Amino acid sequence: MTNLMRGTELARDIVARASEKAADYTSRTGRKPCLATVIVGDDPASVTYVRMKQNRCHKAGLESRHVALPHETTTEELVAKIRELSDDPAVHGILLQHPVPHHVDERAAFEAIVPHKDVDGVTMHSFAGMSFGHNEFVSCTPGGIMRLLDAYEVDVAGKHAVVIGRSPILGKPAAMLLLARDATVTICHSKTVGLADIVRTADVVVAAVGKPRFVQGDWIKPGAVVIDAGYNEGNVGDVDFDAVKDALITPVPGGVGPTTIAVLLEQTVDAAWRELDA
Ligand code: NAP
Repeated sequence: MTNLMRGTELARDIVARASEKAADYTSRTGRKPCLATVIVGDDPASVTYVRMKQNRCHKAGLESRHVALPHETTTEELVAKIRELSDDPAVHGILLQHPVPHHVDERAAFEAIVPHKDVDGVTMHSFAGMSFGHNEFVSCTPGGIMRLLDAYEVDVAGKHAVVIGRSPILGKPAAMLLLARDATVTICHSKTVGLADIVRTADVVVAAVGKPRFVQGDWIKPGAVVIDAGYNEGNVGDVDFDAVKDALITPVPGGVGPTTIAVLLEQTVDAAWRELDA
């Protein structure tokens, strides 16, 4: 039988706690924790994602500051803008919406985020800290995945976890977080040979490919845990959900997506408190 790992309620709980901590911060300082979002160009999906993040900030009692830059923005201009936000004491967290236009060096732009404001966990500093188990900000989607596993009491220690996808914001950090929990991790990507057979050996599958219904039902071992991080046009995940039998699986929508934004808000509030406590 297939059971669902629902992210919506979990996200609501995470945001409610973050919201309380934001209110405490505001009553102590007279200021709200502030997330700056930066977008380059007008990709409709990215515009929607950023607007959702801003709305959630407002609802939870955080301030959001939005910087929209034209598609023609150069790497140097974007880096300069992010450095400005990094230096601004009123800003606690910075989120650069991925992806940026092809002519922009996204890595250089991410690295312009000062580590203590990297609430989206995209810098090399955060990745290294997270991988070594230090108390750094995690990439929000992998962070949300781990919260789902915790909420549904999935112990991954000693289990074979197969992560399909190795992007710096999702597949790679998800693999590191699973490794930190003592899973035996295999990372697959577009050059992997025999993908279906590898996935068939997985106790835990994380699909982070960006291709609708890519993971087939008969790749999933009975009793496996399936995390579908994909979000494709038409509200479709990376797993052929209807073909999966006998698994604990995240729905799309309402699975990983809501937890991603919740972790972002939580980390922004934490960033504000950490700065105060520093
Ligand atoms: P990405 O940067 O495009 O990375 C996709 C990964 O999939 C790459 O590592 C790629 O391998 C791998 N891949 C592509 N084709 C493959 C194949 N045939 N077999 C095996 N691996 C293959 O995408 P992303 O940013 O990680 O996002 C992945 C998905 O997650 C998308 O659907 C995106 O919308 C979704 N997402 C959801 C959230 C959320 O909040 N829920 C957040 C971020 C992303 P190579 O490295 O070899 O190219």
